[in-house]
Amino acid sequence: MNMDYLIIGAGFAGSVMAERLASRCDKKVHIIEKRPHIGGNCYDEVDSSGVLVHRYGPHLFHTENRVVYEYLSGFTQWHNYRHKVVAHVDGRNIAIPFSFTTLYQVFDDVKADVLKAKLIERYGEGNKVSVLELREAEDEELKALGEYVYEKIFVHYTAKQWGIPASEVNPAVLARVPVLTSYDTHYFQDTYQAVPQSGYTRLFETLLDHPNISIALGEDALETLKIIDKQLYYEGERFEGTVIFTGMLDALFDHCYGVLPYRSLDLRFEVCDQEYYQDNAVVNYPNEHEYTRITEFKHIHPVKSPQATILKEYPQNYINGKNIPYYPMPTEDSKEQYERYAALAQEIDNLVLLGRLAEYRYYDMDDIVARALDVFEELT
Ligand SMILES: Cc1cc2nc3c(=O)[nH]c(=O)nc-3n(C[C@H](O)[C@H](O)[C@H](O)COP(=O)(O)OP(=O)(O)OC[C@H]3O[C@@H](n4cnc5c(N)ncnc54)[C@H](O)[C@@H]3O)c2cc1C
Repeated sequence: MNMDYLIIGAGFAGSVMAERLASRCDKKVHIIEKRPHIGGNCYDEVDSSGVLVHRYGPHLFHTENRVVYEYLSGFTQWHNYRHKVVAHVDGRNIAIPFSFTTLYQVFDDVKADVLKAKLIERYGEGNKVSVLELREAEDEELKALGEYVYEKIFVHYTAKQWGIPASEVNPAVLARVPVLTSYDTHYFQDTYQAVPQSGYTRLFETLLDHPNISIALGEDALETLKIIDKQLYYEGERFEGTVIFTGMLDALFDHCYGVLPYRSLDLRFEVCDQEYYQDNAVVNYPNEHEYTRITEFKHIHPVKSPQATILKEYPQNYINGKNIPYYPMPTEDSKEQYERYAALAQEIDNLVLLGRLAEYRYYDMDDIVARALDVFEELT
């Protein structure tokens, strides 16, 4: 076996590791990817209407991390794109995150003026205040505003997303939902915001274009990679190199402690015979329909086409072997379950766990790239 590293999965976690090991350390790397393409969940392709679509849901790159931005800039040009989202509430589209712009969309000018003045007085202009804080405000009108945002924009969306009743939504997650004390209508406020000019797949092709890297697509690594007596075997032989595993940890250990819970999505694309379907890249539907949002990709990657491609996202339960595990569901129980698997993995010297599945945590793209760069430094 002429390889130093075996990497399972060709998403950002696996691909960044492969690129660093091959180009920085001259290591021989073999990647096994069970899907028929590279890029993991960031994979995109041009569809029948000529629109570049993100096959696993809209992916917007945004970061404060200059190192990550500069690293990726070595593999792609960027299309400057600043994401905006609206929510369909009471029959009209309103800007989110909730800001002064939204205040004047949903309330009459007199009421909006009062609330704006109170928000500035209490939290300052150009800041962020969490919905949680607003709901706990002493001022009755600010408190009512917090309730409004919670009820109209947040709670039913979250309940739909996670498949739980609204009453079971954990108020603690509200701590992360901001209300902006400005007119800013951008969804993210990060310094760097863009999408790869020629798409994510092209970025991954460039990342992986190195003579030391070989890739096998459409292969489930768990058919050839086995653990016997705390040793790794690949294609029946003891593997002495290092395995970087970015797949599901419970699957690696044959689900011996049960299946880890995830939330999945049914992603339904539609090609519409009209130039544009909606005014925005993303419209959220917090309070109606079974889907959570509609994305129109032409707003993200502009192209001239008489047709528009849209994507409706229907959250659904994850069933092992039937659909894709998108979001880990970290509860006290599942974290404990994961830790038991992680303890098994720790007993194997030449096994490294990396990525949203193997580490059982949600990572944005910039976070997983940063994490892979760190793990590379630790390993070498
Ligand atoms: C709907 C959705 C929208 C998102 N939007 C954004 C966004 O706007 N901005 C942002 O920054 N982040 C976003 N993300 C997060 C982003 O997708 C992740 O940060 C990124 O995909 C993590 O990379 P990864 O390599 O850890 O995982 P993945 O991309 O999932 O890659 C893991 C790869 O391993 C492969 N694999 C698993 N098991 C095996 C096996 N046994 N054998 C072979 N191969 C295997 C899988 O097929 C997969 O290709 C979004 C995620 C989702 C689900």
